[in-house]
Amino acid sequence: MTHSFTWLRNLIEIALLLAIGLPIVAAAQDIRTHRYQVAINPELSSAQVNICFAGKVPEYLIVDYKKATRNILEFPKTQKGFIEFQGRYWKTQSLAPNSCVNYRVDISEHKRKRRSAENDKTQISFQTENTWLWLPEALSEDEQVEIEFQIPDSYRVSTPWQMLDNKGHRFLLGRTPHDWGFTIIIGEFQLRPVKLASGSQLNIAVLNQVKQKNALKQWVVDIGETLSDYLGHFPLSQLQVILIENRRFRTGPVPWGDVKRGGGFGIRFVVDSDQSLEKFYQDWTATHEFSHLLVPNIEYQDGWLSEGLASYLQYLLMARSGQLTPEQAWQKLYLGFNRGLNGTVNAPEEKLINTSENRRKGNRSGRTMRIYWSGAVYFFMADVELRKQSKGQLGLPELLLKLNQCCIDSRDEWSGIRLAKKLDELSDKDIFVDLYRNIAYSKDFPDFMQTFNELGIQVENEQVTFDSQASFQLRDQIIYRSSSLKILGQ
Ligand SMILES: [Zn+2]
Repeated sequence: MTHSFTWLRNLIEIALLLAIGLPIVAAAQDIRTHRYQVAINPELSSAQVNICFAGKVPEYLIVDYKKATRNILEFPKTQKGFIEFQGRYWKTQSLAPNSCVNYRVDISEHKRKRRSAENDKTQISFQTENTWLWLPEALSEDEQVEIEFQIPDSYRVSTPWQMLDNKGHRFLLGRTPHDWGFTIIIGEFQLRPVKLASGSQLNIAVLNQVKQKNALKQWVVDIGETLSDYLGHFPLSQLQVILIENRRFRTGPVPWGDVKRGGGFGIRFVVDSDQSLEKFYQDWTATHEFSHLLVPNIEYQDGWLSEGLASYLQYLLMARSGQLTPEQAWQKLYLGFNRGLNGTVNAPEEKLINTSENRRKGNRSGRTMRIYWSGAVYFFMADVELRKQSKGQLGLPELLLKLNQCCIDSRDEWSGIRLAKKLDELSDKDIFVDLYRNIAYSKDFPDFMQTFNELGIQVENEQVTFDSQASFQLRDQIIYRSSSLKILGQ
């Protein structure tokens, strides 16, 4: 069919669909794009925000800071309709369709003080709390938000949102709740968008004080590729990564890392970039944090599940990438489980389901190790059970891939039992819910030695030893892809 007839065919198809009463799926052009223009001065002290809504205006705009009103320099003026100011909430639903809103706000509190060096004139605004950018509280399926920063050309912006250019000046706002928290950095730093083999993009922000920038960028990329390799592809289309230098903690190359999920995913690493590159690759923090990307946001009391998965995978991924031998990975896993066991014995007697809350109230000793490593045993036991029941056809990575495909965009906080039910449903097995109930409501640390023994792993004088070829296959399937290896018992 020639091009000129295409529109006619489309028209006929639409007419037919209407005639037989089928719903017409919203086409791309039906998406309404609310446009934000954010002009920030070179000193990074104030922002002029201009919002033009497309069609119906969202019900509420919000920030995540109770005292946000005190930073407003000019309140928004509106022509048709009005805004009800309720602290950090702006009730905007009575604004006329296609309204535009302008306001000016002081953002100077986020400016990074220049440390020691007098000649360091770099401008950086480091924002871990959104005190000023009023965003729609929720977006329906037919609307999206594009945000354009008007800043000096050499300045960059790092956010967890979908980056639309190479400079970090234009973004598409993510859809997960903003109050899950996110980091925005604006100013003079290196922003390096890097494509992974699977096509996903890491937007790596490297702050100026960080040394060996290229090597550390590559280190982040390599961890991303290791996770892609484990799962089958990278779990997200884009990821914000931030490398911050902080020599206050001199405890290792990566003293600290975390994952934020508001409006998209962001990983922050505090690094000691004076340490050798080799040390970075030998450190488990990065594989741990990247592993958090594999599950939806989990409720606080069930945090042992997300910390558990990350703790279980941190060494397995390092073995996969060749940083550890499989034997070393199993040894480290054993020592981790043992720390969990000791932590449980040394903490007050309580069910695991109560441990996170009790830890928050105080007396962390032992509880942290119990939380991290009970969850690691949970995924370890489930992984082995999945492989046994499916005769090697299904393991944890294949299941996590399915979970990623259905649920990574979820805007809910998941309970542990919801996650367990989903994993049982996706695997068509009854493993995760039963195991959840056994471990969450127990006062004891789960018995991991039995599962170790099934893999032919024994322990003598705190040192793991290995036996039997058949178990070797199952052990290696856990680290490498199951499909590439002979299945157990064949
Ligand atoms: Zn963690």
